[in-house]
Amino acid sequence: MRLEGQVAVITGAGSGIGREIARRFAREGARVAIADLKGEAAEEAAGEIEAAGGSAIALTMDVTDEAGVQAGIERVVQHWGRLDTAIANAGIQIVHPIEDFPYEEFKRVVDIHLGGSFLVTKASIPHMYRQKSGSMIYMGSVHSHEPSPLKSAYVAAKHGILGLSRVMAREGGPHGVRANTICPGFVKTPLVEKQIPEQARSLGIPEEEVVSRIMLGRTVDGEFTTVEDVAEVAIFLAGFGSRALTGQSITVSHGWYMA
Ligand code: NAD
Repeated sequence: MRLEGQVAVITGAGSGIGREIARRFAREGARVAIADLKGEAAEEAAGEIEAAGGSAIALTMDVTDEAGVQAGIERVVQHWGRLDTAIANAGIQIVHPIEDFPYEEFKRVVDIHLGGSFLVTKASIPHMYRQKSGSMIYMGSVHSHEPSPLKSAYVAAKHGILGLSRVMAREGGPHGVRANTICPGFVKTPLVEKQIPEQARSLGIPEEEVVSRIMLGRTVDGEFTTVEDVAEVAIFLAGFGSRALTGQSITVSHGWYMA
């Protein structure tokens, strides 16, 4: 059990990558708070962990609502008395060419990814600073390093997350708090399933070509990254035994991006 005794909060954990991280964290001995905009999905994910013998609570949380994020993190600390790891994972995707990108939609993407990561950090670190230990983990993307057409908002937000994570590493260091970013390649979750027909329409190409050329064309083996792959990196970062590993981004993408 690599995370025995830890308390973790994971945003966007009602689905996809966050949900698998929550499941795997619980299996490694962590108590997990599952935060999601969709309260029912969070309840379901927490219920699944409890049914398997783990310890979980569900939080209905919009990561763009500062008061709601503060209240959610407060609840976790009241419930379990501490907070060891916070994973800012909630996210959405909206694709358009820049000239057609509605500004409201651009702001929404940036607000959820970057604003949400900031608010989860702001609410979590006072507890970690008090403990003199903790780990902030951000869900970046290969798009924290590489651009793709149609994804101006997402790529800008994911690049911004790297900056936030690095500042957090600097500010948190003297308090014993680490900060790192995970950068996955394409993972087949609802977020990606939705993009396949959208990109096919925007680029005027068949859906199979979106998968084989746009999504996986630059990997070393044409394979999707899996939710399990990403969860394994999260466990490694959360369970790392010293303060040496901080300010980093770890890419898990079948070699799409090589740092
Ligand atoms: P997903 O759609 O399966 O899950 C995202 C979750 O975030 C959903 O449960 C959704 O309800 C929640 N959410 C959305 N807006 C929210 C808000 N305002 N407040 C709280 N929760 C909110 O997507 P996923 O693929 O699991 O993505 C998770 C993270 O991983 C995202 O940050 C995404 O950018 C990142 N990521 C995904 C991939 C991929 O290929 N799937 C690759 C790299 C990075």
